[in-house]
Amino acid sequence: MSNLSYVPTAPDGPWATYLSQVDQVIPYLGRLARWHETLRRPKRALCVDIPIEMDDGQVTHFEGFRVQHSLTRGPGKGGVRYHPDVTLEEVLALAAWMTIKNAAVNLPYGGAKGGVRVDPSKLSERELEKITRRYTSEIGIIIGPNQDIPAPDVNTDAKIMAWMMDTYSMNVGATATGVVTGKPIALGGSLGRVKATGRGVFVIGRETARRMGIPLEGARVALQGFGNVGSATAELFAGNGAKIVAVQDHTGTVFHAKGLDIAGLMHELRGKGGIGAFAGGERIPDEQFWDVESDFLIPAALEGQITAERARRIQTRVVLEAANGPTLAQADRILAERGIAVVPDVMANAGGVIVSYFEWVQDFSSFFWTEDEINMRLEKILVGSYRKIWETAETHRIALRTGAFVVACERVLLAREERGLYP
Ligand code: NAD
Repeated sequence: MSNLSYVPTAPDGPWATYLSQVDQVIPYLGRLARWHETLRRPKRALCVDIPIEMDDGQVTHFEGFRVQHSLTRGPGKGGVRYHPDVTLEEVLALAAWMTIKNAAVNLPYGGAKGGVRVDPSKLSERELEKITRRYTSEIGIIIGPNQDIPAPDVNTDAKIMAWMMDTYSMNVGATATGVVTGKPIALGGSLGRVKATGRGVFVIGRETARRMGIPLEGARVALQGFGNVGSATAELFAGNGAKIVAVQDHTGTVFHAKGLDIAGLMHELRGKGGIGAFAGGERIPDEQFWDVESDFLIPAALEGQITAERARRIQTRVVLEAANGPTLAQADRILAERGIAVVPDVMANAGGVIVSYFEWVQDFSSFFWTEDEINMRLEKILVGSYRKIWETAETHRIALRTGAFVVACERVLLAREERGLYP
């Protein structure tokens, strides 16, 4: 079967990692395996040019992408990332993981993702707004409340979602709150959305601890990434008795055997834009982060962080994947051989998209829920989905990641089969 256009360019890149995860699941798909090629290619991928007049009068062009990997089970859904290293291939992998994630927790969505190749720290607010508005306009031909619904990801937030919602609404001539999620509350955002991903990471971590007999009280957590997801995860783990022994972000790594003060780290982040110089812990070389002894190692930054070499050194019981795609395929095998449990991204970080789904439902019905109601419903979906994935993995004696892929791919491919091929 020819697959030429979608051959990964880098063997350790995110698209190659995703494809090898698909390879693992095929033996467990029975008759549905005949549709597996569906998982290996996007439904559509859009590349857009974003020309902007910068504050100094120069015209600069940026590259933007929106990939809809699957629309089989519903509209596309997935975040938008602003990062200087964004490529179409990365967005393709991130969109595909959204298909798996949405199906793993049974949301009525396909999978999509977007990105702009830009370093937002080098932009003024005006330039950031211009890029966001032009990008939204360009991808406006394929997004919409019933088509594809973007959300925040790395370096994007509620303010950017507000600009996206406004731009799309101006273009269609009507206020369309449901076109993006992760919006400010005043524009139809949902209570609980900002911390939803971190809350989900914590809930899945807590369930893992319960199943593996690890007491949360005093559990040691090493955390890479202290942004939206990492900081909320740290707060909840620390608030439930765990010790955050090491935190790393793009500015450095800090360590404290008795546990870092999370409120202090938050304060440091707000003041300095990073935690690397935090005085409440010992600064250690970045690479040493991977040698810190922990019960939970939580990557919450970018993909590809757990390489084979690091996987051989890691001293932990559970890798809880808050980031998307943090573990390379070979590293996954090494961790399994070493008896380290890996809780896959598609389950561990699904809290964000679940509350995004709640936001979208609330926007459609123009009826808003309380935060307690949201957190209660979030917990119910997470715990129920995780139970199914855990049991699937146990039944087949496979890794949790493959278990999650079995559950998700069965749903996606069954929908594919039942819809049939057009024409
Ligand atoms: P963010 O931009 O808020 O934070 C990113 C963090 O990663 C920052 O602390 C940054 O300093 C750190 N980082 C960046 N480069 C690094 C490096 N080289 N070494 C160490 N740390 C580095 O992003 P976020 O929204 O918290 O997303 C983090 C991860 O979680 C991403 O993989 C994202 O796809 C995933 N995720 C996010 C959401 C969400 O709702 N925001 C949902 C699901 C998954």
